[in-house]
Amino acid sequence: ALHAPHAIYGETRRNSAGFDLSDETTLAGIFATRDTPLEAAAPLVHRHAEVAGNWPPAAAPEEVVSPTTGAAIAQVTPADAATVEAAIAAAAPWAAPAVERARILRTAADLYEAQSGPIFGLLAREAGKTLNDAVAELREAVDFLRYYAAEGEADPRAPRGRIAAISPWNFPLAIFTGQIAAALMAGNAVLAKPAGQTPLIAHLATRLLHEAGVPTPALQLLPGGPETGAVLTGHPGIDGVVFTGSTATARRIQASMAAGMAPGTPLIAETGGLNAMIVDSTALPEQAVRDIVASAFRSAGQRCSALRCLYVQEDVAPHLIAMIQGAMDQLTVGDPWDLATDVGPVIDGAARGGILGWIEEHRGGILHQRPAPRTGFFVPPTLIRVPGIEALTREIFGPVLHVATYKAADLPRVIQAINATGYGLTFGLHSRIDSRVQEVAEAVHAGNIYVNRNQVGATVGSQPFGGEGLSGTGPKAGGPLYLPRFFAPEPAPQAP
Ligand code: GLU
Repeated sequence: ALHAPHAIYGETRRNSAGFDLSDETTLAGIFATRDTPLEAAAPLVHRHAEVAGNWPPAAAPEEVVSPTTGAAIAQVTPADAATVEAAIAAAAPWAAPAVERARILRTAADLYEAQSGPIFGLLAREAGKTLNDAVAELREAVDFLRYYAAEGEADPRAPRGRIAAISPWNFPLAIFTGQIAAALMAGNAVLAKPAGQTPLIAHLATRLLHEAGVPTPALQLLPGGPETGAVLTGHPGIDGVVFTGSTATARRIQASMAAGMAPGTPLIAETGGLNAMIVDSTALPEQAVRDIVASAFRSAGQRCSALRCLYVQEDVAPHLIAMIQGAMDQLTVGDPWDLATDVGPVIDGAARGGILGWIEEHRGGILHQRPAPRTGFFVPPTLIRVPGIEALTREIFGPVLHVATYKAADLPRVIQAINATGYGLTFGLHSRIDSRVQEVAEAVHAGNIYVNRNQVGATVGSQPFGGEGLSGTGPKAGGPLYLPRFFAPEPAPQAP
């Protein structure tokens, strides 16, 4: 049941209110944060771990780099082993009654909304998010806070204790907040380690949570890279780990937990994907193309849900591929601050190098490519022909779409190949034959199956998000089974 896929039809309906980017005041609030020196933006930006007590940071500061320009925008001191130890020692589960915790998380949601300008600004500056992506991200973060508050406010169960929350740079606010909100709502103490690339937005979020009333010993921020994470995930004082990131990192976490923690300490992991979409000859081409381009290139392809390998039925492939090329020509690649931008930069130089290397290796298969700025960490959106999904020997986390064609009679083999990747996160299907939709949706192993729509941007509450196999452990984030994982297990009933 943890993995039960459910087919999702129709457009995504958002829970929380939107932000009107055509509104002058909203825009002024965002742009006011654009050129503020981050050092001067204190107290919003701290430069060291926010732990209970006063632990002088010992490690050397590291630069936070803007993906758009490649220039350093701030320095952050990573939490060294001694700081992590001190934070674990100071951690205290959140003893307030559940209704009070829920009230405080809702207050935090209100503060997030009130601080939308600085939040959008940091998402653009630190993570290279387009303003439209930044709006969607803030809404998801707010949704997580309100959703887990509602799920947990009447639940009397006891917390596990201390939870390590290790979050990714691709949703540096939403996933950071979602993990923390669930762990806190269950009454745990949280030690949050955001991705090394995005400590500033994590710091702002932590400050807002504290300002809302979350006690510092219940939520401590430990910025840093893999070394900081490793101290946390191998520590016997930690009672559970929640992680979103790559499958390779999840394996390392699992190994270090096995070596250092009590047996049975849970790992809740949301990891990578090699996500496919099938477009058959009955699909509506205009709709399919719009959804393909959104699934592959929105957020510069830096979503674990993003479409990586498109299968188009042979009869319609030439027409559909020409339409995809035309739609790619409409994409604006560039400065995230420009409201017209569809595709911003990727997160850092290493990511850019890896994606460009892949494109270079597959030069012979390139069907289409858009130019991208040469400064900063931009990658040209690229369409590459491949024989099938087995050609994707790794997850390419960027704006690269692979396309294969198939004959109607080969559909079962295509599904087999998709399942054989071992991943199972998202899957998209465009078809107007109901019986085929049902058959394919039943045969494909994926957590989130999207029918006749795009396959990114799951909505908290109505579209729980998570995969199976190499894509994660479950339970799905934003769904009813997630919060219960953060409570202490019920004692086994006594034998009579
Ligand atoms: N929940 C996001 C979505 O549905 C993806 C999360 C991720 O990339 O980790 O698009």
